[in-house]
Amino acid sequence: MQSRPAAPPKLVVLLVVDQMRGDYLEWYGGLFTGGFRRLMQEGAWFQRGAYPYLSTVTCAGHSTIGTGSFPYRHGMIQNAWFDRATGTSTPCTEDPSVREISYNKLTGIGDSAARMLTRTIPEQIRQRTRGRSVALSLKPRSSIPLAGHAADIVLWFDDRGGWATSSVFSPAPVPVVQRFIDANPIASDLGKTWARTLPAASYRHEDDVATERPPPGWTTAFPHPVGIKGGQPDLTFVGHWTRTPLADEYLGRMAIAIVDDWKLGRGKGTDVLSVSFSTLDVVGHGFGPRSHEVQDVLVRLDFTIGRLMQALDERVGRQNYVLGLSGDHGVAEIPEQNGGGRQTNQQTAEALQRALTSAHSCGIPHS
Ligand SMILES: [Zn+2]
Repeated sequence: MQSRPAAPPKLVVLLVVDQMRGDYLEWYGGLFTGGFRRLMQEGAWFQRGAYPYLSTVTCAGHSTIGTGSFPYRHGMIQNAWFDRATGTSTPCTEDPSVREISYNKLTGIGDSAARMLTRTIPEQIRQRTRGRSVALSLKPRSSIPLAGHAADIVLWFDDRGGWATSSVFSPAPVPVVQRFIDANPIASDLGKTWARTLPAASYRHEDDVATERPPPGWTTAFPHPVGIKGGQPDLTFVGHWTRTPLADEYLGRMAIAIVDDWKLGRGKGTDVLSVSFSTLDVVGHGFGPRSHEVQDVLVRLDFTIGRLMQALDERVGRQNYVLGLSGDHGVAEIPEQNGGGRQTNQQTAEALQRALTSAHSCGIPHS
């Protein structure tokens, strides 16, 4: 009997959690009841995966996930690197030859995948099946490397507080995205507070350690205000908002709205939905991997991913989509929490100087 190849999926879902260490699923697995729990129990879990290259940063990681190749081949080797033509360090997706298309009437330098040397998997699926490709994130260096050189929706959040794409992907704001943003202004989160979702005793490790580095307006301890009390939806508010689970939840809701509006997974081709959740990265940089802040971002993301999967089950059907989740890189522990310490650049320079001086006096040849 000849076996038939399985029908191709109607929808491919690619989820990336920025700065998610592989061992977080073991450290914090007991906190999860939603999407992470379902993937751990029902999915294929590759526990020995690794990125065998330097530098394991966001642009390189997302490009590796998006293309299935390594940086020496896809060319996105860093978040930014020196450009001989301009004589400056240039962000991996920056492209002055294209225009920024803003959903909030801002203007800026455009972004594209022009520096990416290979095509992404979503790009190839889109071309071969004539499906649609959607990539959402808070950062251009996360959404563009998942989408590639061409896609139907590629969205990011710029530092000035607006949602953006670029003319290489669409000549004007995409109506479904514009409608969602207009109906759900992030300013409505001004004045909210981020507190622990679960009872404090549920979280592991000590919280509120002196080496945590909260952003302006926050302390090392919960709860954290979203914007200054009585303030405006300004850059302080935006900085807070992107550091709370509210930002991940927003992207999750937008993804479901696009699935509904465009009927993703119900067209003729294979559609691709890529979402990169960025909050864990900024929170991890500020508070460290043992913090209750990091744990709470994961707890809320577990709900967000669970809701997204439930929506896909209902709209697309469980048998009609495949979903993969990965981190783009990890993060080191705060040295003092890991039995280590730290020294300043000056201390390092002095130690080197001492070593070099003593090597000289010992008669070791030098030039
Ligand atoms: Zn990253």
